[in-house]
Amino acid sequence: MLNIRYELTKTPKTKPDQKNLSFGKYYTDHMFVMDYTEGKGWHDARIVPYAPLSIDPAAMVLHYAQESFEGLKAYRTPDGSIQLFRPEKNAERMINTNKRMCLPALPVEDFVQAVKAFVEVEKDWVPSEPETSLYIRPYVISTEPHLGVRPSNTYLFLIIGSPVGAYYEEGMNPVKIFVEDEYVRATPGGTGFTKCGGNYAASLASQIKAHDLGYSQVLWLDGVERKYVEEVGSMNCFFKIDGTIYTAPTVGTVLPGVIRMSCIELLKKWGYTVSENRLAIKDLIQAGKDGRLEEVFGTGTAAVISPVGELRYEDDVITVNDFKTGELTQKLYDTLTGIQWGKIPDDMGWTTKVL
Ligand SMILES: *Cc1c(COP(=O)(O)O)cnc(C)c1O
Repeated sequence: MLNIRYELTKTPKTKPDQKNLSFGKYYTDHMFVMDYTEGKGWHDARIVPYAPLSIDPAAMVLHYAQESFEGLKAYRTPDGSIQLFRPEKNAERMINTNKRMCLPALPVEDFVQAVKAFVEVEKDWVPSEPETSLYIRPYVISTEPHLGVRPSNTYLFLIIGSPVGAYYEEGMNPVKIFVEDEYVRATPGGTGFTKCGGNYAASLASQIKAHDLGYSQVLWLDGVERKYVEEVGSMNCFFKIDGTIYTAPTVGTVLPGVIRMSCIELLKKWGYTVSENRLAIKDLIQAGKDGRLEEVFGTGTAAVISPVGELRYEDDVITVNDFKTGELTQKLYDTLTGIQWGKIPDDMGWTTKVL
């Protein structure tokens, strides 16, 4: 149990118009902060007014990127209460990320307690317009001033929150995906399974290339043979071929998404066969050409489910399901968002009430 100290703001901000929130543009009044010192452990948990951090210019995070982050949301239900979606899964994932990045672990109970305490303080920042939510960003940074490469002796764990808008303002629209065959995101033994900042810095060049070609996201191939499909930007990816659902195995190079896991559980419950064996890009393109590729969608906390309408790999351009959202894609979206916003009963036991 964390012993949290509260220092509430005397100058709350004016809240933005809930109809124009977009993503990551506004931040709430407070932040959760906790220190870590080698030998002493985590200490001094506090919720304080949102403000710039003061860290040494030699802080190790600024030079060697020893850090980790998570992303989850708080949802306003029709009866006005507030709930989280599987926050313990984010806590477990952060433990795995931190282990790989030599960052101190945060017990699952403490992570969930910190998130809940933060959301309770910021309850008025959880929007109520359809499909809006409070995006929550927990993260750990290394703060010791030191220029030698080794793990830091001091860290900060922080949580900030940002009210975010409906992902699909004009209804769900299929996106165009560029299959990256030059740059790679992850290799076995690397950091692909972690949410660490460096992974995203390294992905920007590819993202810009895809945008310049008219594609909104990149589909990564495995980093060794560039032969098997892995995931999309900040989403896991699913393919429905001849009735079977394929998604890449999470064996070290793919981020184990909470929405990915939830989709697999729902699909199995609905009687679908889900294959987590590797899927070759050649077989995927061939299925597209033969008309056996029925649906493609990405999964992640931000968009929940994102239908894919077009795939480009080298000189092949494949249109998926006539550029329309597939039936199963829609059903997963409706079920997951229904549970998250408390509009349908949570028979999976996935939600945690905050208030
Ligand atoms: C966060 C993330 C996902 C999706 O994870 P969720 O827990 O479902 O939000 C997928 N891929 C990458 C690379 C990510 O960073």
